[in-house]
Amino acid sequence: MIPSPLPPDFIPFNKPYLVGPELKYIAEAVALGKLSGNGIFTQRCQQFFEQVYGFRKALLTTSGTAALEMAALLLDLQPGDEVILPSFTFTSTANAFVLRGARIVFADSLPYHPNLDCSKVAKLITPRTRAIVPVHYAGVACDMAPLLHLAQKHNLCLVEDAAQAIESTYQGQALGSIGQLAAFSFHETKNIIAGEGGLLAINNPAFAERAEILWEKGTNRAAFFRGEVARYQWVDIGSSYLPSELIAAYLWGQLGALESIQQRRYQQWQRYYEALQPLARQGCFTLPFVPDYARHNAHIFYLLCTSLEERDALIRHLGQHRILAVSHYQPLHASPFYRARHDGRPLPHATAHAERLVRLPLYYELSLPEQQQVIAAVQSFYLGPCAR
Ligand SMILES: *Cc1c(COP(=O)(O)O)cnc(C)c1O
Repeated sequence: MIPSPLPPDFIPFNKPYLVGPELKYIAEAVALGKLSGNGIFTQRCQQFFEQVYGFRKALLTTSGTAALEMAALLLDLQPGDEVILPSFTFTSTANAFVLRGARIVFADSLPYHPNLDCSKVAKLITPRTRAIVPVHYAGVACDMAPLLHLAQKHNLCLVEDAAQAIESTYQGQALGSIGQLAAFSFHETKNIIAGEGGLLAINNPAFAERAEILWEKGTNRAAFFRGEVARYQWVDIGSSYLPSELIAAYLWGQLGALESIQQRRYQQWQRYYEALQPLARQGCFTLPFVPDYARHNAHIFYLLCTSLEERDALIRHLGQHRILAVSHYQPLHASPFYRARHDGRPLPHATAHAERLVRLPLYYELSLPEQQQVIAAVQSFYLGPCAR
């Protein structure tokens, strides 16, 4: 469990940060006199995503969760429709579709990676299947080619949960630009942050107009702002999915420093990888696997321990060294909410990742001495009797 509050001399697992201009931009937004959504900073951020990653249309949202909920609304899901997604993911991936009455068909992880096993998705498809939602865990791409093939063959929508995947690619193509829809998150635990915040990428132009209406409480206000309609009206269902300009201003400050933020994270990730390789070679744990088709974004550095007991002992050991390391998802198919709704298939690889995965501190302000402390503490756990 996370010690709460964390003692001040602890190396935290994550730390929200400023790169520089965020507060200046927030002051600018205040001076401009528009604090509600879809102002100048929102539009700058959206254009950034459209231009840099080639998304057909980008809409900032109040969270990654909100972006997923918008995706579920756009699919016009009916009760009983089925959505395939991994069990090893955050609740929002599934919850967004459950809110629309969909049935979740959970897919297992790969044996060697938390991402869903794309080769096993075909046999989960039924006549009720409407969408597949791959989650790019740790910013490492799922194998999109077989999923695209299945989506085309069965006329399914591919929605990328790219919450963790800014700057990551699949065969050179930006994640979030491959599915018809994709959700990103700027939660304070992600690489690029705005406190809470998210983005919906809309790559199928057929969804673009309606997305904007859902975003603006079911009205055509966005079109009105562009002078396309004389007044705005209630034209569809919707909600308030757009963030304040204060959030967009913070995000704009981060996006301007994207390269230096990412460079620092890659360095930290690589440092862990190289320093811990000797122990991995001895079989103490497994290091993160990155397939050839993926360029990852250093979102998470994790170890796969050999057992639940050893993982928990490692977390305790790091805690004794004043370092907060944390596990990750409990598989959703076994959650208190979904257990009774799940079709009963065991998902051993999702379960194994839940039991064996531990994430090490990785954040913008993690210093070299702090990281060396973490590395030394992991090494001291396995020193001598690695065969614990
Ligand atoms: C963070 C995250 C979300 C939710 O994003 P929020 O902005 O926190 O709502 C959804 N899916 C995955 C895989 C995430 O990591």
